Amino acid sequence: MYYQTRWVPLRRRGLGWHRCNVLFKDHKCVASCGLAYGKVLELVLDVKGCNLNCKYCWCWKMRHGEEILKYPEDVLRDLECRFDEVSRDFFVSRKGYRVGVIRITGNEPSLQWDHVFELLKLIDRSKLNGCKVIVETNGILFGMGRVSFEGLDELEIDIDIDVSFKGVNYDQFEWLSSSRREYFRYQIEGFVKLFDYYEGSNVNVNPVLGINHAENYCVWRGRRYVMDVEIVDERGEKLDFYEYSEDFENEVLSRRELRYDEAPFREYFGINRDTARLVVAVVYEGKRFLHVLPSEIPDLV
Ligand code: SF4
Repeated sequence: MYYQTRWVPLRRRGLGWHRCNVLFKDHKCVASCGLAYGKVLELVLDVKGCNLNCKYCWCWKMRHGEEILKYPEDVLRDLECRFDEVSRDFFVSRKGYRVGVIRITGNEPSLQWDHVFELLKLIDRSKLNGCKVIVETNGILFGMGRVSFEGLDELEIDIDIDVSFKGVNYDQFEWLSSSRREYFRYQIEGFVKLFDYYEGSNVNVNPVLGINHAENYCVWRGRRYVMDVEIVDERGEKLDFYEYSEDFENEVLSRRELRYDEAPFREYFGINRDTARLVVAVVYEGKRFLHVLPSEIPDLV
């Protein structure tokens, strides 16, 4: 179960000249394309449905919108089609870009793990098998033992599993994810199980802080503004993402360093603005605006 490719809003605004957007009418493509890093492009699949409800979730609106049902074979076809379109693109090849990553993200891919696993097997046998696959998960179902994750090391593709932590201790998790605090323990257990099982194999398991929190600037309507966007707790105080719980430090950080992925806070189309406001304070030109989104700063409005 997916939601539609991220290019579709462009088509709806009348920019439907691209062949991919025309194709969308027929087969509802689910493969988006974006920049991974440097000159490496990524094909992105957005799986639908999540077992958390993070206040800042970038895809909250899509979770409640149209869903697209596909078999793994159909999804592979979308990926290959997008791969061909992008690779043929004159600008892409002239500038030295190439598709090197397939990212499976969403919402939460582990909710339909059997499907994802079948898809990975198909990718492994396809012309896309030179791409690295990145799976982003909150890890909870792995920690609970509800999903069997074995078998990825039988594939030849390189796989990164990024376990996206919603904070670094129980209080942060409970506040940010609007979910029961004991699920943070399942995040830790999920990471540990995956890491220990796949250590030394083609599957790399990484702990990642799953919230855009970079200081000093924000991005709004494609422009960068120099402002601190703080992620705050229920009292409005800035969260300290180095305040680890003991088990997080002992069980996660002892295995691998946390990747902070210092991305700036963004007001994505899909956020729930009411809940996102609760976790944000913006410091702009010497003033602090609590529970105000960057676009709502009086000077910018
Ligand atoms: S941020 Fe990720 S884990 Fe949190 S609700 Fe959104 S999709 Fe789920």
